Amino acid sequence: MTTTSPFPAGTILGYPRIGPRRQLKKAVESFWAGTTSAAELEDTAATLRQATRARLVALGLGADDSSIPGSFSFYDQVLDALCTVGAVPARYASLVGADGRIDLAGYFTLARGEGDNLPLEMTKWFDSNYHYLVPEIGPETVFSLSSDRIVREFVEAKTAGYLTRPVIVGPVTFLLLSKASDEAPAGFSPLDRLDDLLPVYAALLQRLDEAGAQWVQLDEPALVSESIDTARTESLAALGRAYATLGRLAGRPAIFVAAPYGSLDDALPVLAGTPVDAIGLDLVRGALPLDTAGLAAKTLVAGVIDGHNIWRGDLALALEKAERLAGFSPRISVSTSTSLLHVPHDVDDEAGLGDDLPGWLAFADQKVGQVATLARGLSEGRAAIAGDLAAASAALESRRNARGVRDGRVRARAAALTEADFSRGDYPARLAAQDAALGLPPLPTTTIGSFPQTGDIRRARARRHAGELSHDDYRALMKAEIARVVALQEEIGLDVLVHGEPERNDMVQYFAEQLDGFQVTENGWVQSYGSRCTRPSILWGDVSRPRPITVDWSTYTQGLTAKPVKGMLTGPVTILAWSFVRDDQPLAETATQVALALRDEIHDLEAAGIGLVQVDEPALRELLPLKKKDHADYLDWSVGSFRLATAGVADATQIHTHLCYSEFGVVIDAIRNLDADVTSIEAARSRMEVVADIKAGGFDHGIGPGVYDIHSPRVPSVAEITALLDRALESIPERQVWVNPDCGLKTRGYKETVESLHNMVAATRAVRARI
Ligand code: GLN
Ligand code: ZN
Repeated sequence: MTTTSPFPAGTILGYPRIGPRRQLKKAVESFWAGTTSAAELEDTAATLRQATRARLVALGLGADDSSIPGSFSFYDQVLDALCTVGAVPARYASLVGADGRIDLAGYFTLARGEGDNLPLEMTKWFDSNYHYLVPEIGPETVFSLSSDRIVREFVEAKTAGYLTRPVIVGPVTFLLLSKASDEAPAGFSPLDRLDDLLPVYAALLQRLDEAGAQWVQLDEPALVSESIDTARTESLAALGRAYATLGRLAGRPAIFVAAPYGSLDDALPVLAGTPVDAIGLDLVRGALPLDTAGLAAKTLVAGVIDGHNIWRGDLALALEKAERLAGFSPRISVSTSTSLLHVPHDVDDEAGLGDDLPGWLAFADQKVGQVATLARGLSEGRAAIAGDLAAASAALESRRNARGVRDGRVRARAAALTEADFSRGDYPARLAAQDAALGLPPLPTTTIGSFPQTGDIRRARARRHAGELSHDDYRALMKAEIARVVALQEEIGLDVLVHGEPERNDMVQYFAEQLDGFQVTENGWVQSYGSRCTRPSILWGDVSRPRPITVDWSTYTQGLTAKPVKGMLTGPVTILAWSFVRDDQPLAETATQVALALRDEIHDLEAAGIGLVQVDEPALRELLPLKKKDHADYLDWSVGSFRLATAGVADATQIHTHLCYSEFGVVIDAIRNLDADVTSIEAARSRMEVVADIKAGGFDHGIGPGVYDIHSPRVPSVAEITALLDRALESIPERQVWVNPDCGLKTRGYKETVESLHNMVAATRAVRARI
């Protein structure tokens, strides 16, 4: 190391990249559409990066002390790391130019696919709602420093007068998050390639050093997760080896290893035993370290400001945690617990939050301010920030006592619940009652709920939002759409119909808008993946349902047809998973409240003559905690909340659920315990592999393994669907099998939807004729 400038007193692990007005999203999408050139996109991105740096300094970070993270990405930070180390899968070798580099168009092709060439798989980033692209690594992967984008961005900032801290996914996490390539032999693990990868990271560090970087941040969150397939001993050995190697380098920037999303546990002493200079600890999700060996020699970066949620929180408590960490090392800094990628930009950008809520919140910009304040508190003493601490405590106090945060009626109802409220009658009796009530053919056909959200539907919603369309006119348009969708389903010959969800902007926000305890935002966008953003609602108070939400729509729909119509709700776990949840009570309590509101809705649907209700829980798997010790508790309350929502109905009412994935592994028992009468799952993409798990899991209720993939416009043939159905029927008794697509159809066009559903019904009829 040439110089040893100290680690900045306050920093953040990363900042939103999409821009306060989603500028990057728009720029990237217009590049994809061919409307703008790569150079124009580069320009927009550079302008955005410059604005971010200026903003961060205005908010209190230093311009010249490495406190600004170089955390920009055009699409995804794992894809960035992949391009940096040149790990392009063999099927995309043609994207690599003669100079060994991948251009911007090629970069996006890896993310989005091209023709029959599938994109990289996408999966969830730890326990957040962000999704990253999964690298594919095999013995054939050639690692070489193939992109100097990270160096160029550092130089760009330096030229503009900012000494930033480049950020990249660390080598161990990169490999732990990768999957074995198609070319890899059985038993191969991407981590086997660590020693070949490290020289590329070393070369990068040296390039950054030459460019003048003082500190570089390597993110190693995979070490906090226990949901990684690789054996822990191997991961720990890799961690030790990686940072021993990188730490020994001559001529490198100082190395800061950040470990967001939880405690490092046994990985901490391993990391502390290497020559890295600073270690970032998540003290929001994780706890203060128990094993402090080696820490005294490191800078400890206390991640005490929650990067994962939007609350202003307890500033005094955050300071106290940082002060306690100071007991382990003379060099302490403060930061966010994770990148701020998970929160929107600026509370001041929200006009419609009412009087109280804004004071309780901190989005990315407010959190940067909090970090700066705490850094001052650490260096100058508590007295220096006494005003800020008092203001934060006062906000907390106001929140605690505010109307709606605690609702006596909601709490009394939750307190009075008994075991019986969570259980329906025996399944055989239910099955008989439902068979009698519904009179469905064998292998009943249905869909997952949504039909294509056409331009007309979106425009109508936008006009309603802008006040250009009256409530009644909007409803009339939606009813016309529902009537069309019902007629279409009858024409296709489906057995259980849906209303198509045209009135829903989003399966969570729609409910959040109509439940007490939630607040929706205007500009609170966060990146979900690539250019895709979501606007999570803020769940701030006790939840209740002031009036029925879906009943009118469902009864209207049922009135249009003699076929049974399935009511459509989003489940409690998914509502929590895709909202910003309150941090002042256990999630389990919040889930109970949401479940009770849904229970009332289901009761009203049933009373209005709706014989089937589907309660979607696509997020059940994704909220599974990273630490195994937390699984049992999570599965207990999450399954419990679904049961509470659905157990109030008569035997004859059929409860469906839908789960958006096919990796059942650890959750298979939980899914059985949901006790839904029918569960639809994703299965087509894995060619029905999941039915083996279903069989092994002892499922005896109805199951609808998806027979076609809705993620692409491809129309599956009758023969193809027939073959999948036959495969399902090899493992699952015919009595249990339902026929449906993998997921909702809202992102599809009508043409392929109609053709695919026709083929699905034709395949079902062909199979029925044989059984
Ligand atoms: N009912 C929803 C739909 O059809 C389910 C979506 C989901 O599973 N993510 O769109
Ligand atoms: Zn789905």
